[in-house]
Amino acid sequence: MLHSVGDDVTDESCPNNTIRPREVRDLIVALRKDGYTFKTFKDAIETGDRWTMCLTFDDGFVDNYTLLFPILKELDVPATLFVTSRGKSDNGFLSPDMIREMDASGLVELGGHTSGHTMLTEVSLEEAKREIDENKAWIEAIIGHPIISFAYPRGGENDDIVELVKGAGYRYGAAMVKKMRPVETDLFRVHRQIIPRGMPTWKSVLLATRGKWKL
Ligand SMILES: [Zn+2]
Repeated sequence: MLHSVGDDVTDESCPNNTIRPREVRDLIVALRKDGYTFKTFKDAIETGDRWTMCLTFDDGFVDNYTLLFPILKELDVPATLFVTSRGKSDNGFLSPDMIREMDASGLVELGGHTSGHTMLTEVSLEEAKREIDENKAWIEAIIGHPIISFAYPRGGENDDIVELVKGAGYRYGAAMVKKMRPVETDLFRVHRQIIPRGMPTWKSVLLATRGKWKL
């Protein structure tokens, strides 16, 4: 689980789980060399095995287009972006044109992340439903086809929220559960490994592979 891509990973204003462009490239190359194959979130769930790796980037920061997308194209590696609708009015986030172009590349799966990055467990169910539904409709109107993966902002979910996400037509949910576990345990609470801000590539690889990576 990553967020932003940029060189200034020590800047406190940048979100956690920021990775330098050079490091995201090194991470992909190192994992591929070790036999891992990259898939989108939905493809990893549907057709993955223990050698499947999935890169997810939350929030839809504009650097996902300016800095990450060129690397994905160059290395021909898929990734999943869970985006809010903030790019409607804030140019720090992905614009509709950027979202459309990345979807059309076939390398990027777009997923939902609520309209305004709302902690869904802290608002009424009506508001939570609106945040989920409007964001899904916004993304689908841009790319012209349904999306089926969703990530809960800041990991905020409970059984009611999961029902709303299911009801919206999503099939998979990316959560922040404490322990690694098989995906099929709960398709609406799929574990992701956090890669903290500024972590060196080799440590990121160790975390991503749960120590199975050979140094
Ligand atoms: Zn988020």
